[in-house]
Amino acid sequence: MRRRNRNNLVEALELLLLALLLWNFNRIYGQQQDLRPAVGMAETETAGTETQDGARGETDPWKERKKICLSFDDGPDPRYTPQLLDGLAQRKVKASFFLTGKKAEEYPELVKRLQEEGHLIGNHTYSHLQLTRNNREQFKQELEKTNGIIEQITGEEVLFVRPPYGCWEKSLEEELNLFPVLWNVDPLDWCSSDASRIVERVLSGAKENAIILMHDEFPSTVTAALRVVDELQKEGYEFVTVDEVLFE
Ligand SMILES: [Zn+2]
Repeated sequence: MRRRNRNNLVEALELLLLALLLWNFNRIYGQQQDLRPAVGMAETETAGTETQDGARGETDPWKERKKICLSFDDGPDPRYTPQLLDGLAQRKVKASFFLTGKKAEEYPELVKRLQEEGHLIGNHTYSHLQLTRNNREQFKQELEKTNGIIEQITGEEVLFVRPPYGCWEKSLEEELNLFPVLWNVDPLDWCSSDASRIVERVLSGAKENAIILMHDEFPSTVTAALRVVDELQKEGYEFVTVDEVLFE
């Protein structure tokens, strides 16, 4: 019984000692902590805090912009592509344009303008041909022909293809050295002349790294696309060319 009492007493003393040590440690460490900002403030005044905030901002994921892509098929169109390009330039937006060889051949100055203004130019076959079970060779030839037409105008290799209607065969990627670009937001702009409706459909499907499909051959598409840019820029989106979201 006595031994147990003594053991209890030892335990109590040990606990007291530990508490004292902790209290002391806290007191000393706490003082040091208190001193730190005071020294920092004295040396650098408020600049110190601002730098810290700035440094945090660079790595803060909430401050990073969400990427999204606008892509336009079936052009270039002499009536509407220039309007669209003016609007995109005003908003400092880069987009991706998938051209048919036929239109590129007809309007080389528009192809040149797309290149000069930093947009991505891709292949959309020569005559808007849909790949089927029976026309693989013709489809391939159209892509090759269109690559040739675009490359002659821009002097740059074409690396991306948007297959009409999304019909593609994987083995063509290596054969042609073309990477297929599909889409995840389709506002069906070609079957509506109501720009507000098109905008609504895009906004309801918009998300980070999405690729929006539109056609720069309708006035309603130009209006809608520029409104979409204004809305999504307000929401913190940054418009980039498709290569920037495909290979992230
Ligand atoms: Zn098309």
